[in-house]
Amino acid sequence: MECIFCDIIAWKEPAEIIYEDENVISFLDIRPINFGHALVIPKRHYENFLAVPANDINYVINITQKIAEGVNSGLGCDGFNIIANNGTAAGQTVFHFHFHIIPRYKTDTFNYRPKLKNYENDSMKEFAEKIRIAVNK
Ligand code: AMP
Ligand code: ZN
Repeated sequence: MECIFCDIIAWKEPAEIIYEDENVISFLDIRPINFGHALVIPKRHYENFLAVPANDINYVINITQKIAEGVNSGLGCDGFNIIANNGTAAGQTVFHFHFHIIPRYKTDTFNYRPKLKNYENDSMKEFAEKIRIAVNK
């Protein structure tokens, strides 16, 4: 299976690594939204957020918090986004699960708020009910 992130983990491809331990690696995104945009990745290959076992995701989240603290204090940014794209429709392009940590500045000329929708009639309840049933089954 070809995976650019597995190749980086195996040191077959270069990367600007900022943290590494037995289970997690973090390196800079090669096409940053802002400079210092970092990725945090479980070393084991899982396709997306849902595929990562509970123990591993807990650990990845702990390390993501540590890296976010480093991005925040190291760069002196004004804020940061933590996102994970899951599935092609959500913009995922590398199918090895990862969190993005994106440093943000008051001077940024972009945001993550596309045209927002309004729920009509009782549709909010209907959406909530579909999710509630799936979550609690
Ligand atoms: P996503 O689109 O959420 O799957 O994110 C994949 C990210 O990996 C993109 O932002 C790419 O810029 C980044 N990326 C792809 N190849 C490399 C690489 N060799 N080194 C660092 N980042 C990479
Ligand atoms: Zn992989």
